[in-house]
Amino acid sequence: EPITDLLDRLAAVVPDYPSPGISFKDLTPVFADAAGLKRIVDEVIAPFAGEYDVIAGLEARGFVLAAAGAYAAGTGMVTLRKKGKLPREVHAEEYLLEYGTATLELHQDDIAPGSRVLILDDVLATGGTVGAAVRLIERAGGVVAGVGVILELDGLGGRSRLAPHRVHTLQRV
Ligand code: IMP
Repeated sequence: EPITDLLDRLAAVVPDYPSPGISFKDLTPVFADAAGLKRIVDEVIAPFAGEYDVIAGLEARGFVLAAAGAYAAGTGMVTLRKKGKLPREVHAEEYLLEYGTATLELHQDDIAPGSRVLILDDVLATGGTVGAAVRLIERAGGVVAGVGVILELDGLGGRSRLAPHRVHTLQRV
């Protein structure tokens, strides 16, 4: 089964969530499916084989992908978290939301200097969230090896906002 058919079959689309007019793509049924989880994890990391030393996941759905991918690849996994969750010294980066801003944080010593980091998340929209992740990893001394997401929402500029970093998506919607 092509990966796009698998995603069409298993992913849920929730109209008017979290606010009217938004069509929310919910990948939790894909995570809950044995074959689905394995396919998306294997296929989102595959193009980057040999090009990264550690995988970073974005809270919270990115943790699922990054932990599974790191386990499969035999690397470590780093958590990029929302403000106030990490207990030690952090780097912090603000990014724009539709209304207001949010902050993403990374422990200052979670990335070894010069290590190549693959960033994973579930959905790429405007690229604001992953953009903050890129800045955090670079401030911590890492090198961004690439970005992998399951779904890329077309027309929101995410891919161009992340240039020149390589972005691999399993389906554009
Ligand atoms: P961006 O910062 O605009 O690229 O938004 C991406 C972030 O918002 C990611 O962390 C996603 O998990 C979340 N997000 C945006 N739209 C959706 C969606 O339709 N489904 C699930 N997550 C979404």
